[in-house]
Amino acid sequence: MTTDLIALIDRHVRDIPDYPQPGVVFKDITPLLGDHAALTATVRGLADPFRDERIDYVVGLEARGFIFGTPVALELGAGFVPLRKAGKLPARTLSQSYDLEYGTATVEIHADAITPGSRVLIVDDVLATGGTGHAAVELVRRAGGNVVGLSVLMELGFLKGRERLPDVELRALIAL
Ligand code: AMP
Repeated sequence: MTTDLIALIDRHVRDIPDYPQPGVVFKDITPLLGDHAALTATVRGLADPFRDERIDYVVGLEARGFIFGTPVALELGAGFVPLRKAGKLPARTLSQSYDLEYGTATVEIHADAITPGSRVLIVDDVLATGGTGHAAVELVRRAGGNVVGLSVLMELGFLKGRERLPDVELRALIAL
């Protein structure tokens, strides 16, 4: 991906200080979603490193991973599987809990969503502490999937999320 396209994407991600709580700088991708050129570059950029990887499923993480994950799946000729917060999926699920700064969170996937042995790419907007990404990797593996990689728009490197994913091919369009 060219530096021009990376700059285009970067220009369309807006910092919102102290949201949703004091001290957090929220990366707002809604300006990017509203711009056709930036949105196209983002979807292609997320898919590009994995074009030759024969991906069977893209797993998108609720909620912004759904927005990017579905067109990335189409780009890669793959199906799309949603990984959701607890209690949202209607059929039988597998669950994975993980620690947050205060308390825990749980994510779920339909138990039959992934054919065992399939090649899976996980997609999300932001990698922060890596807790969500790590839980997603565990869940896909428990569902029988082979995690080929994790593709994100933005990696907040100072939060060291990458260190929680040592055995995963992690690609970020923008690393801060
Ligand atoms: P983490 O589990 O800490 O890696 O957080 C990743 C999840 O939280 C992703 O699904 C992101 O959408 C969201 N997230 C975390 N930090 C931010 C941030 N600063 N701006 C926007 N989204 C964030």
